[in-house]
Amino acid sequence: MTYIYDNQNIFAKILRGEIPNDTVLETDHALAFRDINAQRPLHVLVIPKGSYVSFDHFAKEASGIEIIGFTRAIGKVCDILGVSIDAGDGFRMIANSGEHGVQEVPHLHVHILGGSSAGRMIQS
Ligand code: 5GP
Repeated sequence: MTYIYDNQNIFAKILRGEIPNDTVLETDHALAFRDINAQRPLHVLVIPKGSYVSFDHFAKEASGIEIIGFTRAIGKVCDILGVSIDAGDGFRMIANSGEHGVQEVPHLHVHILGGSSAGRMIQS
């Protein structure tokens, strides 16, 4: 099986600068921006700059440099938001993937949610 990446998805457009975003961090390998429909006081999406549909796609096909760059960017975003557990109150990280993961945008993104308790992991 191969992963099929739709380069017209909304996050691809954000990466190309075709749609504005509220940037929290940009690095060589990642972009982090505030979710347009925040579910918690702090709600940031972190995406790799490469064309990966989902976390499993990224985990299997991204280079080591991309994986390190994306992972380090997540760590930096946690520091910027003040949610790192060494200095703040923590966060929830979510990577919805595919149909059963109820993924809306088919470009890998992790949600970083903080600023209040995220509640139980799954409600229904
Ligand atoms: P998913 O359900 O795919 O895990 O989450 C997609 C997220 O992208 C949703 O939380 C939604 O609010 C957010 N989103 C969708 N379109 C835009 C947009 O144009 N800009 C921003 N900043 N967030 C978006």
